[in-house]
Amino acid sequence: MKHLGKRILAVAVVLGVTIGLIGLMSGKHFGQVKEQVQTKYLYAMDTYFILSAYGPEGEEALNQCEEKVMALEAALSVTQNDSDVVKVNTKGTAVVSEDTFLLIQKALTLCEETGGALDITLYPVLREWGFTTDSYQVPDEQELKLLLEKVDYQGIVAEESDRNIQVPQGAELDLGAVAKGYTGDCLIEIMQQNGVSSAMLDLGGNVQTLGSKPDGSPWRIAIRDPFYMNGEAGSVNEVGVLEVIDKCVITSGSYERYFEENGERYWHILDPADGCPADSGLVSVTVVGDSGVRCDGLSTALFVMGKDEAVDFWRQANDFEMILMTEDRELYITEGLEESFVCSEGWNATVISR
Ligand code: ADP
Ligand code: MG
Repeated sequence: MKHLGKRILAVAVVLGVTIGLIGLMSGKHFGQVKEQVQTKYLYAMDTYFILSAYGPEGEEALNQCEEKVMALEAALSVTQNDSDVVKVNTKGTAVVSEDTFLLIQKALTLCEETGGALDITLYPVLREWGFTTDSYQVPDEQELKLLLEKVDYQGIVAEESDRNIQVPQGAELDLGAVAKGYTGDCLIEIMQQNGVSSAMLDLGGNVQTLGSKPDGSPWRIAIRDPFYMNGEAGSVNEVGVLEVIDKCVITSGSYERYFEENGERYWHILDPADGCPADSGLVSVTVVGDSGVRCDGLSTALFVMGKDEAVDFWRQANDFEMILMTEDRELYITEGLEESFVCSEGWNATVISR
């Protein structure tokens, strides 16, 4: 499993660099753009971050970004001792940092809005599967049932006056579905505060962009082929390229973290209804919108819901677009992406209209 982890990381790096190169090389004034871009590579939150900022303010902004990433990781990690999340999980109640409090509030809104498809109290179940520690196992059914009884985001009490978070006995927080999106939002804010107007942040496959490329053209984001890792004949690296300006492009996929036992595959996105890997017929969901934390939470939740429910949700929400891939290799895009998404050779996207 260690090897698998490394392979996933290697692919993430290659993907990140590819995205970066596509971004750089399609600039009209290649020499000039190359001179101005600053890039920082970080390993954080169990993944690789590639942060690029353009212009003279970039360097200082990136240094501040690095500090912020480290601070957020130290607060939000579910395994790192002394993190806000670990404090809440071990004591059942704790006063947390401003960022942690704000993120929990935002996450709870998403849990509510998605009818519990997103549930940030899943941690005991995730741990039983070994997804946060890499010691994977298929849990005993009875054990799973007992743990599931404790899962309910509605039991969280978030007290604004003193930033105290309280979870019911037996419940534990995991912010893994939203932490990177929230981090991206914080980094975009730091960029703006420093006067950077053009930046591309790749947080382990979560892409968040600020403005356009320096020459005014859109960023080009490769959307990965979820089947590519299987090495199946004829598969290419990406299903298409999406052009965006000032948007988050955030993907949840069952190929990102999984293990296999007795010929079955088990992945890290769980359905809070039964505590098992969400078997909704989707293999990847990409959400495109303005808020990183929202896109991140939704990509996980819509994956759990499956195509039909995800489409209903999209029709009601009106503030994001999405790309869905089913296990039968059917590719769907919502109509707002029709002009900006170009399929790779061999792929066709069905457009979902409102
Ligand atoms: P990734 O972190 O791989 O980009 P996601 O944003 O979809 O992918 O987050 C997956 C993580 O979210 C899991 O590793 C786990 O920590 C957590 N998680 C899994 N299923 C759920 C769920 N239904 N609700 C809330 N959190 C979940
Ligand atoms: Mg997510």
